[in-house]
This record gives sequence, C-alpha cells and structure tokens, in this order.
Amino acid sequence: MNPTASTPREAPRTSGAVPTGTMKAVLKTKAGPGVEIREVPIPAVRPGQLLLKVLRAGICGTDLHIYEWDTWSQNRIQPPVTIGHEFVGEIIAVGAGVTEFQFGERVSFESHIVCGHCTACRTGNGHVCQNTRIIGVDVDGGFAEYAVAPAENAWRAPANVPLEVQSIMEPLGNAVHTAFSGDLSACRIAVTGCGPIGLFALGVARAAGACQVIASDVSPYRLELARKMKADAVIDVSKEDFVQRVSELTDGRGLDGVLEMSGNAKAIRDGLAALRNGGRLSLLGLPREEFGLDWNKLLVFKGVTIHGIAGRRMYETWYQMDNLLRSGSLDVRPAISHVMPMEKVVEGIELLRSGNAGKIVLVPWGQEG
Ligand code: NAD
Ligand code: ZN
Repeated sequence: MNPTASTPREAPRTSGAVPTGTMKAVLKTKAGPGVEIREVPIPAVRPGQLLLKVLRAGICGTDLHIYEWDTWSQNRIQPPVTIGHEFVGEIIAVGAGVTEFQFGERVSFESHIVCGHCTACRTGNGHVCQNTRIIGVDVDGGFAEYAVAPAENAWRAPANVPLEVQSIMEPLGNAVHTAFSGDLSACRIAVTGCGPIGLFALGVARAAGACQVIASDVSPYRLELARKMKADAVIDVSKEDFVQRVSELTDGRGLDGVLEMSGNAKAIRDGLAALRNGGRLSLLGLPREEFGLDWNKLLVFKGVTIHGIAGRRMYETWYQMDNLLRSGSLDVRPAISHVMPMEKVVEGIELLRSGNAGKIVLVPWGQEG
C-alpha cells in the first residue's frame, strides 16, 4: 500500500512474445448484482488495436454502479463484459495499421470510443459523440491481466509519475476538463464534493494558478484528503453553512468558480449562491434525480455561466493534463488512498462504497503492489 513508489519507465522493446491461452479477468457475468473473477481467453489484437499487459487499474464510481446493477447498468450493460476503464498497460502487441505506438511503450487510455463522423465528432466535440462506446462498459475493459483497446485512444503515459498515477489519467481528465472550462488563474475556486475526482480537481485548480481553493464535503475522511491535496480551507457542510463560510473566506466577494463534483442538489444550490455575480458553475457531478432551483435569483440575475461537463475533451484535455503531470506542477498522489491486488476487487468496491477511500488502484495478478 505505497502509492508514492515510483517505477521508472523501461526502454521500449522492438519485439515481444504475444501470450496465448487464458488470463484472469473481472467480469460482469450476468444481469444482477456483483462481479466475478473468471479465467477467460487472452484477447486477440485486431487491426488498429493494442494488446497490453495491464499494470495498474483504478476503480471508478461507474464500476460501483455496474457492481450494484443499478437502473443505468440494467439499461446499458450487456454481460458478459470485462469491467474497468481506468488503466495503464505495457504494449505487448500492435495490431495491423498501427504506426504511432510500439512494443514496450506504456500507455493510458481515453475510455470513450467515438464514431468520428457524427456532428459532435466532426465539429471537434468528440467527447459528446452521440455514438460513444465506453471501454469496460460497452466493450471489454482493463480489470484483467491483458486487455485490448484502440490505438487511437492510447496516450503515452508521462514517465515521471508513478504507475498508480499513470493508471488514473482518465478520471483525472474529468477534473482537468471541469477545471479548465472557465478561468482559474488568480481565481477563487471551490470544489464541492471531494470524491476521487473532486480531490484531483483541487490539485488541478491549484496547479493552474487559482489563488484560493476551497473544498467541501460531508465526509471527514475525504475532507482530510482534501487537506492533503492542499486545499486552503475545507468546509464540512454537514456542520457548517457553505454560503456563509465562503463569504467569510472570500472577504464577502464570493467565488469566481465552482467545480461541482458531488451531484448533490444542495451543493449545487449553495454553489450558485456562493458565486460572485458573473461567476461560473461547472457541473461534473451527476444528480440522481431532477430538482428545482430559484433560476432567477441564483442564475439569471447573477449572470452566471453554467457548463455541463462530459468526459474529457479529445484530446485537448489530455494535453493539458499531460503538461501538468510532466512539469511536476500537479501531484495527485495524496488522492490515491489505497493500492490493492486486483484479486480483492470486491473489497475495493465495498471500500469505495463506504466513502472511506480516495482513489483505489488495483494491481493485476503476478505483480508487486
Ligand atoms: P463520489 O461519489 O466518490 O464523490 C462525491 C462526493 O460528494 C462524496 O465524497 C460525497 O460525500 C460528497 N457530497 C455529498 N453531498 C455533498 C454536499 N452537499 N456537499 C459537498 N459534497 C457532498 O464521486 P466521484 O467518483 O469523485 O465523481 C464525482 C461526480 O462526478 C459523481 O457525481 C459522478 O457520478 C460524476 N461523474 C461524472 C462524469 C461526467 O462525465 N460528467 C464522469 C465521472 C464521474
Ligand atoms: Zn461521433
């Protein structure tokens, strides 16, 4: 359990032995709660794809939904499917037609496989492609010893950050996309909700030059992680009034921006109330149900800009994130609370569900954690 251990990148090989036979993988095997570890065939690499030895994989809130078999999962998932869409791997085979990558390189993945020809894709907005398929949701993912994924979605992982960080670039990209959807430099920013993505967003806002970064949550465990991510102030909204505390912390000026990472209706209302006139609210959090707002008071008359954030801009967000990581200006290691064997995936999912975890990273079979 040492998320700070750094693993140097190995020199790229020019050839590699392609494994055959079977591997261990974490599958949604049937329509119902749970996941299973199964022995399945090692996938064959098709044209345009990369075959990877998976080195690390992150557990996402989406994996919890799939595990619980909620309404979204019931309407979306078609078992059997190998789950996991946050991972880093070493390339052990390249499919026909792949020229950008070679054996031995270490790559992370954009999880959205987009069509390239819908209106969104053709106008530079592939992150909201209307035909998106998601790795580990619609096609087999990375909770396995080996995985295949489109080379088009691969991102050469920055060599100066540990494997654990390389594996969570996909959710980190959510935080980067949200943060960079408005001004940050010299701004007073609040992140509402300090789950893994909110914790990342605290670091991103700070690295991008926000002059004050305020965190809110209801969980003491997560507020402690927010402090470790160097939030200037943390607000426990189960005990304190968010709007009042923000007013005190900003000398009555209010916030320039709110990065909403909780999906909680009260957090959204309070976030709007705590914004200065003309501020921005960037919404990544997904409310579980519809709710009402005082639109006139909280939005219209304040001249607020609202952004809906889906995924990561492809690939603008990845360049921004890569620059922050490679330069050393962004360190998200404190947000990674647990590194555990993939064999214990159910324990990891339950731990994440309890809220007493930040980001949890899994180590596939046969590798040292
Ligand atoms: P998470 O569920 O781990 O974190 C949410 C946090 O919000 C929790 O720590 C919770 O205690 C806190 N919270 C609850 N009520 C609050 C309140 N009133 N004020 C402040 N905090 C409160 O989620 P995560 O994995 O970090 O993801 C963040 C959000 O983004 C989730 O809603 C998730 O569904 C969503 N998400 C959206 C996208 C997208 O593309 N739009 C992608 C990934 C995740
Ligand atoms: Zn498209």
